[in-house]
Amino acid sequence: MEVVVEGLVKRFPTARRGHHILALDGVSCRIRPREFVSILGPSGCGKSTLLNILAGFEQPTAGAVLVDGRPVRAPGPDRGVVFQEYALFPWLTVEQNIDFGLRNLRVPPAERRRRVRGAVALVGLGGFEHRFPRELSGGMRQRVGLARVLVMNPSILLLDEPFAALDALTRRLLQDQLLDVWSTTRTTVVLVTHSVDEALVLSDRIHIMSARPGRILQVIDVPLSRPRDLASPELNALRGEIHRLLADEVRRSFEEQHGQMAG
Ligand code: ADP
Ligand code: MG
Repeated sequence: MEVVVEGLVKRFPTARRGHHILALDGVSCRIRPREFVSILGPSGCGKSTLLNILAGFEQPTAGAVLVDGRPVRAPGPDRGVVFQEYALFPWLTVEQNIDFGLRNLRVPPAERRRRVRGAVALVGLGGFEHRFPRELSGGMRQRVGLARVLVMNPSILLLDEPFAALDALTRRLLQDQLLDVWSTTRTTVVLVTHSVDEALVLSDRIHIMSARPGRILQVIDVPLSRPRDLASPELNALRGEIHRLLADEVRRSFEEQHGQMAG
């Protein structure tokens, strides 16, 4: 699936009459079929807003998102979304949580069992099928969240800082697992993150956003095979380049705001 984002603008109303927050100011980009793309930017720059528009949860003020040429207007089963805290149903087991969407769609029981087994295997939850969410670690819960989405066979995975709440080791583990899932299923992945290293270790291309209002500042190619070594000279050079870009951007935005306050 190809995703084309054309001139997205998003304004949010505020409590003050006639005032609004400009979250996105002309975001355009193209995501290739089966590509692993990261959206990287300072917090508050509009990453989640962009992802929510791709998912169809939010409508843009102007501009459009086209998935294989068709405009996105609402959520759809072709786009699976995983958030930082996935709201699992606490009264359902791992297996029942993963099965929930299929059950709602009235998929026949034999197919449901087959697909749930596949999703469980894909994220390494074998042996935990009958546990309840409260019996699982944060990393395991996030795998259930991912499996719940994968079981629907989405063509695009939209991930909003899915590992941000996890400890560093668990995070590394789940990043590797996400790469396995991606290479097995060949879905397009759009990952929102504020971690430069996470973007470097995972992505084909990194779209760097400006401070609010969000625009795409630059698109960085990471033409390196996986698994990647974060200490390699190639990644060190790219890391330096991205940090410089982001530091310049944060400084520019601060000075702009400071200027406004003074003026
Ligand atoms: P990020 O995910 O990059 O941290 P967000 O997309 O969540 O940024 O937010 C971008 C800006 O839009 C922020 O200033 C935020 O306060 C504002 N914003 C986001 N959602 C809403 C909303 N529903 N109503 C009003 N303002 C919002
Ligand atoms: Mg966010």
